Amino acid sequence: MTVLSTPLSRLVGDRTAKALAKLGLETGWDLARHYPRRYGDPSRLTDFGDLPLGDHVTLNARIARTSLRPTRKPRISMLDVTVTDGSGEITLRFFGAHGYLASRERRLYAGRVGLFTGTVERFGGKLMLKNPGFEFFDDDDEEDKAAALERMSRPTPIYAATAALPTWRIRGAVQTVLQPLTEDDVPDPVPTEILERDGLPTLREALRLVHDPRTEEDWRRGRERLRYEEAFVLQTALAARRAEAEAEAATAREARAGGIRDTFAKRLPFTLTEGQQEVVAEISGELARPWPMQRLLQGEVGSGKTVVALLSMLQVVDAGGQAALLAPTEVLAAQHSRSIRAMLGPLAEAGMLGGAEDATRVELLTGSLPAAARKKALLAAASGEAGIVIGTHALLSEGVQFADLGLVVVDEQHRFGVEQRDALRAKAAVTPHLLVMTATPIPRTVAMTVFGDLETSTLREIPAGRSGIRTFLAPSGHPRWTQRTWELAREQIEDGGRVYVVCPRITAEGDDVETELLDEAAEDGEAQALPVAPAGNGKPQLAAVDEVAAILREHPALDGIRVGELHGRMSPEEKDAAMAAFASGEVPVLVTTTVVEVGVDVPEASVMVIMDADRFGISQLHQLRGRIGRGSRAGTCIAWTTAREGTPAMARLRAFEATTDGFELAQVDLEQRREGDILGAAQSGHGSSLRLLRVLTDTKVIEKARWDARKIVDRDRTLAAYPALRQAITEQLDPERAQFLDRT
Ligand code: ADP
Ligand code: MG
Repeated sequence: MTVLSTPLSRLVGDRTAKALAKLGLETGWDLARHYPRRYGDPSRLTDFGDLPLGDHVTLNARIARTSLRPTRKPRISMLDVTVTDGSGEITLRFFGAHGYLASRERRLYAGRVGLFTGTVERFGGKLMLKNPGFEFFDDDDEEDKAAALERMSRPTPIYAATAALPTWRIRGAVQTVLQPLTEDDVPDPVPTEILERDGLPTLREALRLVHDPRTEEDWRRGRERLRYEEAFVLQTALAARRAEAEAEAATAREARAGGIRDTFAKRLPFTLTEGQQEVVAEISGELARPWPMQRLLQGEVGSGKTVVALLSMLQVVDAGGQAALLAPTEVLAAQHSRSIRAMLGPLAEAGMLGGAEDATRVELLTGSLPAAARKKALLAAASGEAGIVIGTHALLSEGVQFADLGLVVVDEQHRFGVEQRDALRAKAAVTPHLLVMTATPIPRTVAMTVFGDLETSTLREIPAGRSGIRTFLAPSGHPRWTQRTWELAREQIEDGGRVYVVCPRITAEGDDVETELLDEAAEDGEAQALPVAPAGNGKPQLAAVDEVAAILREHPALDGIRVGELHGRMSPEEKDAAMAAFASGEVPVLVTTTVVEVGVDVPEASVMVIMDADRFGISQLHQLRGRIGRGSRAGTCIAWTTAREGTPAMARLRAFEATTDGFELAQVDLEQRREGDILGAAQSGHGSSLRLLRVLTDTKVIEKARWDARKIVDRDRTLAAYPALRQAITEQLDPERAQFLDRT
């Protein structure tokens, strides 16, 4: 056990260790990796311009004046120290015995510059820190003036701190841990050859540079190296994983001329776009190799990914194997099963009267199937009769057996993480080929980071013949907009169209908000404060499916038109029935939550009304809008909102109104979101290895690290010659994510 893996209680004492534990720091390593947030420079004062009320802050400020006076309480005095950033002022207020405060006042003299830390409060119209902690750049009792001056000119690391644990106590603890360390105590995951090539400091040196810099140049150099290290460790893990997967055997599934795939392709009612043809060819080639394909297919909403997947699945069927298609929801699985059966026609009717000669069978396998149907589907999967099995992710976890699973297609799941991929590999005797599909555009570096072990293809074109979608923002509850919206709905329905009405909540009572992104919208601060429809108790209330459906059923404009509901609380059968009634036109208005967000394909749908649109994130809005304008019918999307101009929510909505280009919207989205949301739980949660690396902006670093990592892994797949690197991967990455190394 090295010094750095020792628990902090043994290194810095129990009391400090306890306080550090509150910051999630348990070992010497944790503390060494708790990098300063920023650096204080005595010559650069903190700008008081935008201090957030209620936040714990550390201010670099100059004392302007002090005043000590008694309070109304006996024996308690009050010392006000006014500090300035050069223009604004904040009061530091101390309470205590007169004598104690008087001695404190002697240290807090006007002109002195120091760090002050506390929680920002507003008191009598003024900003204030109560009983703040403080520290000066010039030490009170430092004898050696030259040393004091030198110390004062150094950047001071400022750590993420709490009231109980000010930044200088963290700094002290870090120094206690770091100072005695030798190079040998700090094994460096970055190989010497790279350090030498790029002139980078060792890990030991880099930690000193960031935690105890002499100059700004020092900490910049230290951070640069640590940032590279993060990218490098992650890319090595991904490269090793990929190499491992490629070293596995898979069954080659070659295309068979004149097979079911060719027959199907000939029968397609449309020609494939150029992009579709390219991707189909690419996948076809990879399926024919004796090692597993690992491909991510990105494609704009409506770009026609399903048909690409279907052609790929049929190639595997032609070669005697089976394919599984996994959807994120049962609604979507059921829809895929319906539409794929419809597309295949007699080709999906093996063994049935009227079935084509080459035909196969398509089985839907979801948890909600009646026992008998489920048994039949399970049997068809296990016997190999079913060439295509469609279900949710439960297909992987439940005891579903395949006779010869050759390809797994994962739909609409750009976060189909490494863990699930491992589960999949563990499932089949021979690793199946894998195709992950997503409509959420992922920037290249993010793809390289999250999916560094997958190859990526992109469908950029939308098939011709789409009539486009117009988007309008409407002020919620505005009588003219309301009237026009429902009149448009009626016209469209009379013309054979369908109307979605999307709400953020299921019922008017209760807190059953059906979307994860709502919290994020709420964090913008303005959204939740605005009432949408005043509820009885005066609390702001978001549109709810049951309430909106009830209103629409009574609405004169929709007289005689049936209104259905769809949400996550309904049983799978109910959901299925609601979708089917909507698709057939029997119930042409569907009031729903975001369960329709992904993949649902009803070509007649032409109107989408989104209530409280400001509550949804951009990618959700984009996905929702992608549900209309899918056929020859032009779409109209009306987003209702109470958001005000100038707020982040309104910025999102304006971007949404202005363009239907998913890549453009993704960019806006990314700019508004935090890193963790992009990477997903696998990397933002506990054990995250990314502290300094910014996936969106550190493109060059990531590319270089990827290159270096691949070279190393090509040479030494199990990293036998790089124990520190191997160790870093196991320690820094999520335990589950690193497991594969132990298996090698
Ligand atoms: P997504 O990529 O969003 O999953 P889908 O695969 O659901 O898109 O395709 C959307 C619609 O476009 C479907 O109705 C599909 O049949 C149709 N489609 C797919 N490819 C083409 C094409 N090349 N030309 C015309 N229509 C197409
Ligand atoms: Mg789809």
